[in-house]
Amino acid sequence: MSEPKQKQFRAIRGTRDILPPDSSLWNWFERTAREVFESFNFREIRTPLFEEPELFGRSVGTDTDIVLKEMYPVEGRPPQEIQDYRRFIAAHGARIKNGSFVLKHLVHDVEQVLPELLIAQRIGDISDTDNMRLLQVIGEDAKRLRVHLRDEFLLSSEEILNLAQRIVYAAEDLRLGEQMTLRPEGTASVVRAYIEHGMHNLPGNQKLYYVGPMFRRERPQKGRYRQFYQIGAEVLGPSDAPAIDAEVIEMLLALFHRVGLTRTTLYVNSIGCKDCRPKYVELLREELRKIKDRLGADSQRRIETNPLRVLDSKLPDEQEIIATLPRISDHLCEACRAHFAKLKDELNLRGLAYEENWRLVRGLDYYTRTTFEVTAEGLGSQNAVCGGGRYDGLVELLGGPPTKGIGFAIGTDRAILSIQESGNLPKLPGLDVFVAWMGVKSYPTAGVELPPEEMKFKKSLGLADKLGARYALILGEDEVASGTYTLKRLADAKQEKYSESELFAHLKNGG
Ligand code: AMP
Repeated sequence: MSEPKQKQFRAIRGTRDILPPDSSLWNWFERTAREVFESFNFREIRTPLFEEPELFGRSVGTDTDIVLKEMYPVEGRPPQEIQDYRRFIAAHGARIKNGSFVLKHLVHDVEQVLPELLIAQRIGDISDTDNMRLLQVIGEDAKRLRVHLRDEFLLSSEEILNLAQRIVYAAEDLRLGEQMTLRPEGTASVVRAYIEHGMHNLPGNQKLYYVGPMFRRERPQKGRYRQFYQIGAEVLGPSDAPAIDAEVIEMLLALFHRVGLTRTTLYVNSIGCKDCRPKYVELLREELRKIKDRLGADSQRRIETNPLRVLDSKLPDEQEIIATLPRISDHLCEACRAHFAKLKDELNLRGLAYEENWRLVRGLDYYTRTTFEVTAEGLGSQNAVCGGGRYDGLVELLGGPPTKGIGFAIGTDRAILSIQESGNLPKLPGLDVFVAWMGVKSYPTAGVELPPEEMKFKKSLGLADKLGARYALILGEDEVASGTYTLKRLADAKQEKYSESELFAHLKNGG
């Protein structure tokens, strides 16, 4: 009889495992980013992986692919007793219908469970998006009914039924599961935290970086995943000096230089501010309407919803037409024009090569003025390894005080992929010493990588070789007794005897 076939589990589409030795490369990349960023006086911020959906709607923008199509909603399951509380009230709906409704029972039940629901809402077990209003309705209506019952009997039976019905509907409408979404990007969370913790009260600019996974439900392909990783940095504070933009870009390129990601191109652009951009967007929309028929469906829709995004189009057929459209660089206000000119001076001052790309508008709503992107070779069509820009005004949009901001996010998956494709891999430390031990008395003195069971030296040394160890430390009972050890360099089979202290000194000096 054949065994029943077991289900084979696989990573969910768009997600993947990062295994050794790649994980060493990832750790090295993230470690290097931390070192470089900290040397520029940036400090790490860790924010939750999920947030309120509205945070992204308001910041990233409601007419973006991210918010419209790519977010991963997470619905919290309310504790059972909270579901029961709601059922308790809602059950009166059926009684109203079949005529078995008793007012005093409804009021009693509401008075029992309402305090519990209010607590649940306060401690976040149920969200406060609409629930606040609904709980108020329930509370106020129940109070009127209680007054009626207690002494006055003022309400007509029709009024009573209306109030009771309204309580039942409000209870049914309560959204008991917490509404959350996996974060599709990092900036909105950083800004939320900046406001929540009053970081604008701290002196100077806040220079923050984050490292971690992001989630977008995009069509998976090479270099595009549904769980992907970013390393991002943000500067938040009172100043929008172009030198800050340049410093942020310099830091980014310093990292890319350190990790050997050199076949890259930096593109910069300015997309204006709330004073000059709307006029340009209107002009662009007018021009686009004239040539609407020559555009694809996506671009046609964007003429009305978000015309700037037409400039993002990669459709071959649209390129020639887009090239004829008015360019924002000709429509910047004086302040934006000066800001952009100064940014370019600052980049030149730092010896950073860049190309201007007037079509670089970036997909998210919150950008103002400076936008930039870095592309790398070896990645095919998904070749952007980093995107960033200025977002003055985002803090205010999310309810904070007037604050300037700029930041970027590196796509770690793609950065690693590009380094791998270039073949320019760092030499990462592997296994240094394999301890070939024999004799039970030697075992307690051994450490590092060693066979878990006694093994003949010949076999042991063969294994050390296969594992790619640099050295094998030969540890027999004689060695333990005499305190001298034989160290064999596996590359050339040279071996020498050392005392314990000599041995450590020798290995510490890199062998
Ligand atoms: P964005 O802010 O959307 O431009 O993202 C910044 C960077 O994150 C991009 O330049 C990519 O390198 C990376 N990235 C964005 N989405 C994905 C994805 N689905 N898979 C892998 N990397 C991504």
